[in-house]
Amino acid sequence: MISKKERFKLVTDYFLKHRPVAETELQYTDPYELIVAVILSAQCTDKRVNIITPAFFRQFPAVESLAAADEKDVLELVKSCSYPNSKTGHLIKMARMLIEKFNGIMPSDIDQLQKLPGVGRKTANVIASVIFNKPAMAVDTHVFRVSARIGLTTNAKTPLETEKQLIKYFPDHLIPIAHHWLILHGRYVCQARKPKCGECGLRDFCRYFEMQKT
Ligand code: SF4
Repeated sequence: MISKKERFKLVTDYFLKHRPVAETELQYTDPYELIVAVILSAQCTDKRVNIITPAFFRQFPAVESLAAADEKDVLELVKSCSYPNSKTGHLIKMARMLIEKFNGIMPSDIDQLQKLPGVGRKTANVIASVIFNKPAMAVDTHVFRVSARIGLTTNAKTPLETEKQLIKYFPDHLIPIAHHWLILHGRYVCQARKPKCGECGLRDFCRYFEMQKT
């Protein structure tokens, strides 16, 4: 039986070798563009968001223009993603608060970030780790599922429990990239309905795979 510590080491070594570079698939050029893209990506694919954002950023190139935007113009641009009405409201309010409370500068603190409309813990962690390289683990559906299957987490019932268990074992400097390792693995290999265990490099130390054999 592999210990938790060993499992983390084996997974880390595997990804360091096979995915030395792992980044968000959302397209962005600055913190403003990333927060807009992450808000749009809730319950929506990165692919869809990347289709929407080029025109969005042409019309609203900076936080100031979004803060001054008319709701119907924003809605028109985001209508092809999920929950367009609530995302429109969040985006405009987020931009306004960013200007009024933070002088237009993206905060790096998780608690401060969560004060922005439309920004929950997951989005705040993405901004903190991707923009500020902080040891913040954003847990989305892929990270939640893949961590549990591999055995990096045990009986984690909520994203917050998953987050706490993961940051306990991954070294701080690897937490930002580990988030992307798990997302990309979940998106392309360890898929929700049918994990591709036959072609997965983690199977020798994956708890789910072990259990399938018994
Ligand atoms: S062996 Fe299967 S369940 Fe385990 S990580 Fe790979 S794809 Fe997922």
